Formats: sequence, structure tokens, C-alpha cells
Amino acid sequence: MLKLENINTFYGNIQALKDLSLEVQEGEIITLIGANGAGKTTTLMSICGIEQPRSGRVIFEGQDITETAPDKIVSMGISQVPEGRRIFPKLTVAENLDMGAFLRNDKEEIARDLEYIFELFPRLAERRHQQGGTLSGGEQQMLAISRALMGKPRLLLLDEPSLGLAPLIVKQIFEIIVKINKENNTTVFLVEQNANMALKIAHRGYVLQNGAVTMTDDADKLMANEEVKAAYLGL
Ligand code: ATP
Repeated sequence: MLKLENINTFYGNIQALKDLSLEVQEGEIITLIGANGAGKTTTLMSICGIEQPRSGRVIFEGQDITETAPDKIVSMGISQVPEGRRIFPKLTVAENLDMGAFLRNDKEEIARDLEYIFELFPRLAERRHQQGGTLSGGEQQMLAISRALMGKPRLLLLDEPSLGLAPLIVKQIFEIIVKINKENNTTVFLVEQNANMALKIAHRGYVLQNGAVTMTDDADKLMANEEVKAAYLGL
């Protein structure tokens, strides 16, 4: 479904990604784990057209999208849930969700998707007329995921959904990510510093170190790997 081929992305003279290659198959949950500053966010930005790689290619469903504009990429079926959620704090929950669907005009399906989201996150249904900024951190994360789902993505990019949330809320959010993957047939690319949680729900994983992929395997094999255990799982 998605292929990154030898991506090199720079910020001025700083090389954030070094010959990064990876693949995501349709239906998978893939996780990219790595320390602070390893290049995880830059990888997502390079996929969704916000940071242009200096070289290499991003291929989505057979099409080269390396130089495609971000809004076009969303309309092709890739939505991102950014780090720190970035919901619109002054808009209500319902208005935030509308914003996620702004590129669509299939009204009936939008209404069905909204219903699905309110089933998935009953808290958001209860709070649909409340301003986004008044929600708790966990609810804001739910809103950010839901807003991305309103774009009707086939591929959902998630940037550190666990950031700043209590363990119980993280568990709930990760359970819902699994549900979205299974029930809604949405392929998931999950970037996480919480490698433990991410590897538990992922099918496969990539380890990113200083902008380069250093390891890739099935998630359960990565979890059992001594290097991964010592560096990322705190074991
Ligand atoms: P984090 O978990 O902290 O978000 P990350 O793995 O997502 O880290 P990136 O944010 O992709 O890492 O950063 C990769 C490298 O690029 C880091 O060295 C970072 O300092 C640098 N970097 C990121 N954004 C910029 C920017 N806008 N300008 C300059 N350097 C940047």
C-alpha cells in the first residue's frame, strides 16, 4: 500500500532521514519506534507532503506522491493525527469533526461515518456541543483520531497518540486503534516512543535511530529482541 524508497529529508543542513526505506501492506498495523529526535515525525511529514524529501520516493497504492500537495494526499486516502493532537480549541467537537470532512461532499456517507465515530467514542457524542479546548487530554486525542477518520482514510498515520496521557487512557486509545484497523479496515502507521504499547498491537515494526532504519521484524520478534528490550522497552 505504501512504500518509502531511500528517503533523505533535510532541515537546512541537518539530515533528519537517511536513506529510509519501509513498506506498509494493506490491512496492517505498522509501528515505527525510536527515541526522541530519531526522525519519526519527519517520516510522517515526508509521507503526507508537508516536508519534501530531498531525494527518494513515496509510493502510495502504486502512485508516486513524493511531490504531491498535502491536501491532494488527504483526498487520495491518507490522514494524519499529528503529535500534540492540534485540535481546534475554540470550535466545538462537532465542528472539529466537520473540519476533518472538508474535502468530501458525500453527505450521506459523512453522516454514517459520524455515527460510527460516535459509537466508537461515546464521550465525543456526549460532548459534541462542547468546545474542543475544554476536553481532557484523552478526549482531545480521541477527537484528533476521529477528525482524521472523517477524512475517510484508507491509511491512518498516528504520531505519538500516547503522549502525555495516563496509562489507562493509553490502553483505551490503543484498543480503539485495533478496532479501527479490524472493523473499519483501515491500515495504520503508528509512530510511538511508547514501544511497549505500540509493539503489542502492531503486526510489524521498524526501529529508527538517527534518521535511519536499523531493524525491522514482526512485532512479537522485536519485543523478544534483546537490543530492543534494552533500548526501548526498559527491560
Ligand atoms: P520526537 O519524538 O521528539 O518528536 P522524532 O523521532 O519525531 O522525535 P523528528 O521530530 O522527526 O524526530 O526530528 C528529527 C531530527 O530533525 C531531530 O534532530 C530534530 O532536532 C530535527 N528537526 C525536526 N524538526 C526540525 C525543524 N523544523 N528544523 C530543524 N530541525 C528539525
